[in-house]
Amino acid sequence: MNLSFDDTKTAFAYKSDKDLKTARFLFKTMHFSWFVSMATKLTPVILKIGLPVHGIIRKTIFKQFVGGETLEATSTVAKKLEEYHVQVILDYGVEGKEGEENFDKATEVFKKVIQYAASQKNIPFMSIKLTGLARFGLMEALNEAPRLRSGVHNHEIQDAEWDRVRNRLYSICETAAAHNISVLIDAEESWIQDPVDRLTMEMMQIFNKQKAVIFNTIQLYRHDRLQFLKMSHEIAIQQGFILGEKLVRGAYMEKERARAIQNGYPSPIQPDKEATDKDYNEAVRFCLDHLDRISVLIGSHNEESNMLAAKKMEEMNISFDHPHIHFSQLYGMSDNITFNLAKEGFSASKYLPFGPINDVIPYLMRRAQENTSVSGQTGRELALIEVELKRRKTQQ
Ligand SMILES: Cc1cc2nc3c(=O)[nH]c(=O)nc-3n(C[C@H](O)[C@H](O)[C@H](O)COP(=O)(O)OP(=O)(O)OC[C@H]3O[C@@H](n4cnc5c(N)ncnc54)[C@H](O)[C@@H]3O)c2cc1C
Repeated sequence: MNLSFDDTKTAFAYKSDKDLKTARFLFKTMHFSWFVSMATKLTPVILKIGLPVHGIIRKTIFKQFVGGETLEATSTVAKKLEEYHVQVILDYGVEGKEGEENFDKATEVFKKVIQYAASQKNIPFMSIKLTGLARFGLMEALNEAPRLRSGVHNHEIQDAEWDRVRNRLYSICETAAAHNISVLIDAEESWIQDPVDRLTMEMMQIFNKQKAVIFNTIQLYRHDRLQFLKMSHEIAIQQGFILGEKLVRGAYMEKERARAIQNGYPSPIQPDKEATDKDYNEAVRFCLDHLDRISVLIGSHNEESNMLAAKKMEEMNISFDHPHIHFSQLYGMSDNITFNLAKEGFSASKYLPFGPINDVIPYLMRRAQENTSVSGQTGRELALIEVELKRRKTQQ
């Protein structure tokens, strides 16, 4: 195996010099945490009062992290990625729209996304958030509801409302199974995660008999999730289905810790980054050791975790394009991982959100916030871009 995450030529082959310079400007700007903090607060207000900032957002942060404003508009990016054997996971990036009408609308959009994905060569997955189909307050209540002796929640009061959520998800999964597209169900805040897990496991039991159509998400920044992964594996064996799992570290750490302090309960988050890394890598090993029953998607920008998985596959003589192993990074980040994995023959993809600018703002704000730390992601992205720009200059 010749895999190197330092190969910037491969990583950025799909980007022009101009694209790279724009990305450099963007990541440099995101270094300034005061700026990101101010922009995060002001942008939604500016958009609400209708100031003409769409143009600048579209050309900068939107272009870097989002595939387009409509489903069809993602095809330019998808085709470009296909040239480099990189696949696409379509993510309808609209968040936080509550109300039964919006949930029904979102269900129809998700089904259209599946049909569209099935008509394209390199889009085997799409992702959804259950909060796009269900009221946050309902999920919070179900998370807290008393458990029956079977381990299932007693949720009689909200039965009708929850049944509608179940029907929405069922119809999405049914469409996905019919079109041979897999659905990744995102993990969200721990105080709504229990009903998400429960419903996802139920769908897996129905639709994952032959292959993993439905995937749950395991956030390894939670100290109880490695155990949960192992329990889910036991259930999959007992009930005879393929367990689909997306492994991530988790995106809501500050929020989780703050809520735990505020409400006086023990934090669900690991004590430190090392503990998160340890469980993440252990989860990767566990999945690779049980590929007969588990289909895994490694969703991470961490070079060590990705390299560990690739090396373990080589050691175990697992073919790089094994249908039960997939790697994915967010569009606009860690191209050095995705494109180098794809070049070596691994199944690698980009998570590609799309949607109207106003609707994807929460997603963009999360990307900006996670890229503020100088020592973290931005430092790495910037360094890689600088290396590539220098390499191109010396080769001219
Ligand atoms: C394809 C894909 C899908 C994703 N889907 C989801 C999803 O469904 N739900 C979701 O929540 N996130 C999701 N994410 C985001 C993900 O959870 C991480 O926020 C992000 O990828 C950063 O983690 P990393 O593995 O890339 O690596 P790194 O950059 O090595 O790790 C950063 C992460 O480590 C953890 N961490 C940092 N400091 C500490 C500390 N002091 N103590 C404990 N833990 C710490 C945090 O989770 C932090 O985000 C997804 C990411 C990708 C690439």
